[in-house]
Amino acid sequence: MNLILLQATDRIAGARFRIDGVRARHVAEVLGAEPGRVLRVGLLDGPFGRATVVASSPDAAELDCTFDDAPPPRPRTDLVLAIPRAKSLRKLLPEVTALGIDRLVLFRSWRVAKPYLTQSILDAAEYRPLLHEGLMQARCTREPKVTVESLFKPFVEDRLPAFAAGATKLVAHPGADVSLASISVAADDRVVLAVGPEGGFVPYEVDALRAAGFTPVSMGPRTLRVETACVALLAQIALLRMMPGR
Ligand code: SAH
Repeated sequence: MNLILLQATDRIAGARFRIDGVRARHVAEVLGAEPGRVLRVGLLDGPFGRATVVASSPDAAELDCTFDDAPPPRPRTDLVLAIPRAKSLRKLLPEVTALGIDRLVLFRSWRVAKPYLTQSILDAAEYRPLLHEGLMQARCTREPKVTVESLFKPFVEDRLPAFAAGATKLVAHPGADVSLASISVAADDRVVLAVGPEGGFVPYEVDALRAAGFTPVSMGPRTLRVETACVALLAQIALLRMMPGR
Protein backbone atom coordinates (compact mmCIF):
# COMPACT_ATOMS: atom_id res chain seq x y z
CA MET A 1 0.00 0.00 0.00
CA ASN A 2 1.97 2.99 -1.26
CA LEU A 3 -0.88 5.45 -0.89
CA ILE A 4 -3.72 5.45 1.63
CA LEU A 5 -6.86 5.97 -0.42
CA LEU A 6 -9.50 8.06 1.33
CA GLN A 7 -13.15 8.31 0.39
CA ALA A 8 -15.52 11.21 0.96
CA THR A 9 -17.39 9.00 3.46
CA ASP A 10 -14.23 8.70 5.61
CA ARG A 11 -14.35 12.46 6.37
CA ILE A 12 -15.65 13.05 9.89
CA ALA A 13 -15.15 16.83 10.07
CA GLY A 14 -13.20 19.46 8.10
CA ALA A 15 -9.73 18.07 7.48
CA ARG A 16 -10.25 15.06 9.78
CA PHE A 17 -10.66 11.57 8.27
CA ARG A 18 -11.27 8.28 10.04
CA ILE A 19 -10.27 5.00 8.38
CA ASP A 20 -10.83 1.39 9.44
CA GLY A 21 -10.36 -2.13 8.05
CA VAL A 22 -7.24 -3.03 6.06
CA ARG A 23 -6.14 0.58 5.76
CA ALA A 24 -6.13 1.15 9.54
CA ARG A 25 -4.33 -2.14 10.10
CA HIS A 26 -1.74 -1.20 7.47
CA VAL A 27 -1.14 2.20 9.09
CA ALA A 28 -0.77 0.60 12.54
CA GLU A 29 1.02 -2.65 11.78
CA VAL A 30 2.98 -2.18 8.56
CA LEU A 31 3.83 1.51 8.81
CA GLY A 32 3.89 1.45 12.63
CA ALA A 33 2.62 5.03 12.41
CA GLU A 34 2.67 6.98 15.68
CA PRO A 35 0.69 10.21 16.16
CA GLY A 36 2.48 13.04 14.35
CA ARG A 37 3.74 10.87 11.50
CA VAL A 38 2.97 12.22 8.01
CA LEU A 39 1.61 9.78 5.39
CA ARG A 40 0.87 10.01 1.68
CA VAL A 41 -2.86 9.95 0.98
CA GLY A 42 -5.18 10.45 -1.97
CA LEU A 43 -8.86 11.22 -2.19
CA LEU A 44 -10.75 8.75 -4.37
CA ASP A 45 -11.13 10.39 -7.80
CA GLY A 46 -9.63 13.52 -6.26
CA PRO A 47 -6.23 15.02 -5.44
CA PHE A 48 -3.24 13.59 -3.59
CA GLY A 49 -2.43 14.90 -0.16
CA ARG A 50 -0.60 14.47 3.13
CA ALA A 51 -2.09 13.14 6.32
CA THR A 52 -0.82 13.70 9.84
CA VAL A 53 -1.68 10.75 12.07
CA VAL A 54 -3.77 11.92 15.05
CA ALA A 55 -4.53 8.48 16.48
CA SER A 56 -3.84 4.95 15.28
CA SER A 57 -4.86 1.45 16.32
CA PRO A 58 -5.23 -1.76 14.22
CA ASP A 59 -8.99 -1.09 14.07
CA ALA A 60 -9.13 2.62 13.23
CA ALA A 61 -6.95 5.63 12.53
CA GLU A 62 -7.69 9.34 12.53
CA LEU A 63 -5.84 11.56 10.10
CA ASP A 64 -5.68 15.32 9.51
CA CYS A 65 -5.34 15.84 5.78
CA THR A 66 -4.33 18.57 3.35
CA PHE A 67 -4.79 18.06 -0.38
CA ASP A 68 -3.19 19.33 -3.60
CA ASP A 69 -5.28 21.51 -5.86
CA ALA A 70 -5.96 19.24 -8.81
CA PRO A 71 -6.52 15.50 -9.15
CA PRO A 72 -4.11 13.52 -11.34
CA PRO A 73 -5.18 12.96 -14.97
CA ARG A 74 -7.19 9.87 -15.85
CA PRO A 75 -5.29 7.12 -17.70
CA ARG A 76 -5.67 7.14 -21.50
CA THR A 77 -6.11 3.39 -21.99
CA ASP A 78 -9.42 1.50 -21.87
CA LEU A 79 -9.68 -2.26 -21.51
CA VAL A 80 -12.52 -4.13 -23.17
CA LEU A 81 -12.30 -7.62 -21.74
CA ALA A 82 -14.28 -10.84 -22.28
CA ILE A 83 -15.63 -11.74 -18.82
CA PRO A 84 -13.13 -14.09 -17.19
CA ARG A 85 -13.94 -16.52 -14.39
CA ALA A 86 -13.97 -15.06 -10.90
CA LYS A 87 -10.54 -16.42 -9.93
CA SER A 88 -8.88 -14.71 -12.92
CA LEU A 89 -10.85 -11.51 -12.46
CA ARG A 90 -9.84 -11.26 -8.80
CA LYS A 91 -6.16 -11.52 -9.76
CA LEU A 92 -6.49 -9.23 -12.72
CA LEU A 93 -8.44 -6.26 -11.34
CA PRO A 94 -5.80 -4.89 -8.93
CA GLU A 95 -3.07 -5.42 -11.54
CA VAL A 96 -4.78 -3.70 -14.47
CA THR A 97 -5.84 -0.86 -12.16
CA ALA A 98 -2.25 -0.45 -10.98
CA LEU A 99 -1.03 -0.37 -14.58
CA GLY A 100 -3.61 2.34 -15.33
CA ILE A 101 -6.92 1.98 -17.14
CA ASP A 102 -9.62 4.60 -17.50
CA ARG A 103 -12.61 2.42 -18.38
CA LEU A 104 -13.11 -1.32 -18.13
CA VAL A 105 -15.85 -3.00 -20.13
CA LEU A 106 -16.50 -6.64 -19.22
CA PHE A 107 -18.35 -8.21 -22.14
CA ARG A 108 -19.93 -11.51 -22.96
CA SER A 109 -18.42 -13.36 -25.92
CA TRP A 110 -19.16 -16.77 -27.43
CA ARG A 111 -16.57 -18.57 -25.31
CA VAL A 112 -17.58 -16.86 -22.05
CA ALA A 113 -19.55 -19.47 -20.10
CA LYS A 114 -23.03 -18.26 -19.16
CA PRO A 115 -22.57 -18.70 -15.37
CA TYR A 116 -19.71 -16.15 -15.54
CA LEU A 117 -22.36 -13.47 -16.05
CA THR A 118 -23.91 -14.03 -12.64
CA GLN A 119 -20.68 -14.30 -10.63
CA SER A 120 -20.79 -12.15 -7.51
CA ILE A 121 -17.44 -10.62 -8.51
CA LEU A 122 -19.39 -8.59 -11.08
CA ASP A 123 -21.09 -6.72 -8.18
CA ALA A 124 -19.52 -3.34 -7.49
CA ALA A 125 -19.39 -4.13 -3.75
CA GLU A 126 -17.04 -7.04 -4.55
CA TYR A 127 -14.88 -5.62 -7.31
CA ARG A 128 -14.39 -2.05 -6.07
CA PRO A 129 -12.10 -3.00 -3.16
CA LEU A 130 -9.88 -4.78 -5.72
CA LEU A 131 -9.72 -1.63 -7.85
CA HIS A 132 -8.83 0.37 -4.74
CA GLU A 133 -6.08 -2.12 -3.93
CA GLY A 134 -4.55 -1.42 -7.36
CA LEU A 135 -4.85 2.35 -6.87
CA MET A 136 -3.11 2.19 -3.48
CA GLN A 137 -0.36 0.00 -4.96
CA ALA A 138 0.33 2.34 -7.89
CA ARG A 139 -0.34 5.65 -6.08
CA CYS A 140 -3.26 6.80 -8.12
CA THR A 141 -6.73 8.06 -7.20
CA ARG A 142 -8.58 7.48 -10.48
CA GLU A 143 -10.91 4.51 -10.09
CA PRO A 144 -11.57 2.72 -13.39
CA LYS A 145 -15.18 3.00 -14.54
CA VAL A 146 -16.53 -0.51 -14.92
CA THR A 147 -19.47 -1.59 -17.08
CA VAL A 148 -20.77 -5.04 -17.94
CA GLU A 149 -22.12 -5.85 -21.42
CA SER A 150 -24.07 -9.09 -21.45
CA LEU A 151 -24.65 -9.30 -25.23
CA PHE A 152 -21.77 -9.14 -27.71
CA LYS A 153 -23.54 -8.03 -30.89
CA PRO A 154 -25.40 -4.90 -29.62
CA PHE A 155 -22.33 -3.92 -27.64
CA VAL A 156 -19.88 -4.18 -30.54
CA GLU A 157 -22.21 -2.86 -33.22
CA ASP A 158 -24.15 -0.16 -31.36
CA ARG A 159 -22.06 1.09 -28.43
CA LEU A 160 -18.42 0.28 -29.08
CA PRO A 161 -18.02 2.65 -32.09
CA ALA A 162 -18.93 5.71 -29.98
CA PHE A 163 -17.01 4.40 -26.96
CA ALA A 164 -13.84 4.02 -29.04
CA ALA A 165 -14.28 7.01 -31.37
CA GLY A 166 -10.96 8.74 -32.06
CA ALA A 167 -8.93 6.08 -30.22
CA THR A 168 -6.26 3.69 -31.41
CA LYS A 169 -8.32 0.50 -31.41
CA LEU A 170 -6.53 -2.81 -30.90
CA VAL A 171 -7.75 -6.36 -30.41
CA ALA A 172 -5.19 -8.69 -28.88
CA HIS A 173 -5.18 -11.92 -30.84
CA PRO A 174 -2.34 -14.45 -30.63
CA GLY A 175 -2.55 -15.39 -34.32
CA ALA A 176 -2.65 -11.83 -35.72
CA ASP A 177 -0.19 -10.87 -38.48
CA VAL A 178 0.38 -7.38 -37.07
CA SER A 179 2.81 -7.13 -34.17
CA LEU A 180 1.88 -4.87 -31.25
CA ALA A 181 5.46 -3.59 -31.47
CA SER A 182 4.71 -2.04 -34.88
CA ILE A 183 1.95 0.24 -33.52
CA SER A 184 2.77 3.91 -32.81
CA VAL A 185 1.07 5.51 -29.82
CA ALA A 186 1.57 9.13 -28.75
CA ALA A 187 1.73 9.83 -25.02
CA ASP A 188 -1.80 11.15 -24.77
CA ASP A 189 -3.49 9.10 -27.49
CA ARG A 190 -6.49 7.15 -26.28
CA VAL A 191 -6.04 3.41 -26.74
CA VAL A 192 -8.93 0.97 -26.54
CA LEU A 193 -7.65 -2.57 -26.11
CA ALA A 194 -9.89 -5.61 -26.52
CA VAL A 195 -8.82 -8.90 -24.92
CA GLY A 196 -10.52 -12.24 -25.45
CA PRO A 197 -11.57 -15.04 -23.12
CA GLU A 198 -9.43 -18.03 -22.11
CA GLY A 199 -10.82 -19.95 -25.11
CA GLY A 200 -10.06 -17.05 -27.48
CA PHE A 201 -12.33 -15.09 -29.81
CA VAL A 202 -14.31 -16.94 -32.46
CA PRO A 203 -13.64 -15.71 -36.05
CA TYR A 204 -17.01 -13.88 -36.18
CA GLU A 205 -16.00 -11.81 -33.14
CA VAL A 206 -12.63 -10.83 -34.60
CA ASP A 207 -14.43 -9.83 -37.81
CA ALA A 208 -17.02 -7.78 -35.86
CA LEU A 209 -14.25 -6.00 -33.95
CA ARG A 210 -12.40 -5.40 -37.22
CA ALA A 211 -15.59 -3.89 -38.67
CA ALA A 212 -15.70 -1.58 -35.61
CA GLY A 213 -12.20 -0.36 -36.54
CA PHE A 214 -10.08 -2.64 -34.32
CA THR A 215 -6.73 -3.91 -35.60
CA PRO A 216 -5.84 -7.45 -34.49
CA VAL A 217 -2.36 -7.39 -32.93
CA SER A 218 -0.14 -10.08 -31.45
CA MET A 219 2.58 -10.02 -28.80
CA GLY A 220 4.20 -13.08 -30.39
CA PRO A 221 3.66 -16.83 -30.58
CA ARG A 222 3.31 -17.48 -26.83
CA THR A 223 -0.33 -17.68 -25.88
CA LEU A 224 -0.67 -16.26 -22.39
CA ARG A 225 -3.33 -16.65 -19.73
CA VAL A 226 -5.83 -13.80 -19.75
CA GLU A 227 -4.48 -12.26 -16.54
CA THR A 228 -0.89 -12.45 -17.81
CA ALA A 229 -1.86 -11.20 -21.28
CA CYS A 230 -3.63 -8.13 -19.83
CA VAL A 231 -0.61 -7.18 -17.74
CA ALA A 232 1.81 -7.73 -20.63
CA LEU A 233 -0.38 -5.86 -23.12
CA LEU A 234 -0.91 -2.83 -20.85
CA ALA A 235 2.80 -2.70 -20.01
CA GLN A 236 3.71 -2.85 -23.71
CA ILE A 237 1.20 -0.12 -24.57
CA ALA A 238 2.69 2.01 -21.77
CA LEU A 239 6.12 1.47 -23.35
CA LEU A 240 4.81 2.40 -26.83
CA ARG A 241 3.52 5.66 -25.33
CA MET A 242 7.04 6.46 -24.11
CA MET A 243 8.57 6.01 -27.56
CA PRO A 244 6.25 7.70 -30.08
CA GLY A 245 7.47 8.23 -33.64
CA ARG A 246 10.39 5.80 -33.30
N1 SAH B 1 -6.82 -20.40 -27.38
C1 SAH B 1 -6.96 -18.98 -27.53
C2 SAH B 1 -6.09 -18.28 -26.52
C3 SAH B 1 -6.78 -17.25 -25.78
S1 SAH B 1 -5.73 -16.46 -24.64
C4 SAH B 1 -6.57 -18.52 -28.94
O1 SAH B 1 -5.80 -19.20 -29.58
O2 SAH B 1 -7.02 -17.44 -29.38
C5 SAH B 1 -6.84 -15.23 -24.07
C6 SAH B 1 -6.69 -13.86 -24.67
O3 SAH B 1 -5.46 -13.29 -24.25
C7 SAH B 1 -6.64 -13.82 -26.18
O4 SAH B 1 -7.94 -13.81 -26.75
C8 SAH B 1 -5.88 -12.53 -26.44
O5 SAH B 1 -6.77 -11.41 -26.37
C9 SAH B 1 -4.90 -12.48 -25.28
N2 SAH B 1 -3.58 -13.05 -25.60
C10 SAH B 1 -2.97 -14.11 -25.04
N3 SAH B 1 -1.76 -14.30 -25.56
C11 SAH B 1 -1.57 -13.34 -26.52
C12 SAH B 1 -0.53 -13.02 -27.43
N4 SAH B 1 0.61 -13.71 -27.48
N5 SAH B 1 -0.71 -11.95 -28.24
C13 SAH B 1 -1.84 -11.23 -28.21
N6 SAH B 1 -2.87 -11.51 -27.38
C14 SAH B 1 -2.74 -12.53 -26.53
